Amino acid sequence: MSDLLVVGSVALDSVETPFGKVQEALGGSATYFSYSASFFTAVHLVATVGEDFPEAHLKLLADRGVDIRGLQTSKGRTFRWTGQYGYDLNEAKTLETQLNVFAEFRPVLNDVSGRTPFLFLANIDPELQLDVLRQMKERPKLVALDTMNFWIQGKREALRKVLAEVDVVTVNDGEARQLASEPNLIRAARAISAMGPKTVVVKRGEYGALLSTEDRLFFVPAYPLESVYDPTGAGDTFAGGFMGYLARSGDLSDANLRRAVIYGSAMGSFAVEKFSIGRLLEVTKPELAARVADFRRLVAFEEEL
Ligand code: AMP
Repeated sequence: MSDLLVVGSVALDSVETPFGKVQEALGGSATYFSYSASFFTAVHLVATVGEDFPEAHLKLLADRGVDIRGLQTSKGRTFRWTGQYGYDLNEAKTLETQLNVFAEFRPVLNDVSGRTPFLFLANIDPELQLDVLRQMKERPKLVALDTMNFWIQGKREALRKVLAEVDVVTVNDGEARQLASEPNLIRAARAISAMGPKTVVVKRGEYGALLSTEDRLFFVPAYPLESVYDPTGAGDTFAGGFMGYLARSGDLSDANLRRAVIYGSAMGSFAVEKFSIGRLLEVTKPELAARVADFRRLVAFEEEL
C-alpha cells in the first residue's frame, strides 16, 4: 500500500441545481479527491485556505484521516467557486471563480511528502501543478493530472508543459475536446496521449467513463442512479477512487487500470447523491463493495455460440 499526495483546490462552493442549492459549502478538487482516496490509502493534502475557512471543515478532513499538515492557512479569503446546472447535469456553468488565496499560493513539500510514490495534480493552476512536480525529490511511480476549461483556456502553455511530464490525465469530455481541438473523443484521447500522458481517462458524467491506454480502449457506464442532486465533485471523487485503488494495490498493469476505473466510477456515483461531500461522509465499505458488484452485473452478458 503506497501513500498518495494531492495538490488542488480547497474551496467554498455555492452551487445551484434544479433540485436545490447550497451557499459556501465545502468543496474543491483536492477536498473531493482526498475524501474519496482516503477509503483506500493514506492521503497527504497540499493546498491553501484563507483565514475565513471554517474550522469545522478542517476537522472533517482531519477526522477522515487525511494528512492536512500541508494545508496552509494564508492571509485573505478562501478560493470560491459559484456554479449552476440545468436539467442536463452533465454541464456545469461557472458563474464566478474567485482565486483569492490561490493567486499568491506557493506549495511547499517537505522531505517526506516529496517522496510520495503516487501523486495527483488535481484541478488547479497548471503552474502550481508543475511547481509541485518539480519539488518531488524522487519521480513518483505514477503522476496523474486533472484540469478544466478555465485553465485550458487561460493557461494552455503552462498546462502543455506539465502534461508532457505526467502518466495519466483525467478530464471530462468537453475538456478533452477543447484540449485536443478535436471533436471526436477517441481521436481527442489519442491526441492528448501524444502530449505526454500514456493513459487518458475521459469522464462522461451520466454516460460513464472511457479509459484509453497504449494497449486498448475500455468503457464503463455510469452507475444507474435514480436521483442525482449535485454533480459537483463527481470527477474529483472518481479520480480519488481511481488513484486510491492504484496506490493501494501498487499494480499499474492495464487490467488493474480497468479495475481502478470501476472503483472510481463507484465512488463518483456517491458524490452526486447529495450536495457537497454530504454523501461521501456516510459511505461504508460494504456499500462500495455492493456498487462494484453491481457494475459487474451491469455489463456482464453471455455470448451465444
Ligand atoms: P468537478 O469534480 O469537476 O465537478 O470539480 C468541482 C470542484 O472544482 C468544485 O468543488 C470547485 O471548487 C472546484 N473548482 C472549480 N473551478 C476551479 C478552478 N478554476 N480551479 C480549481 N478548482 C476549481
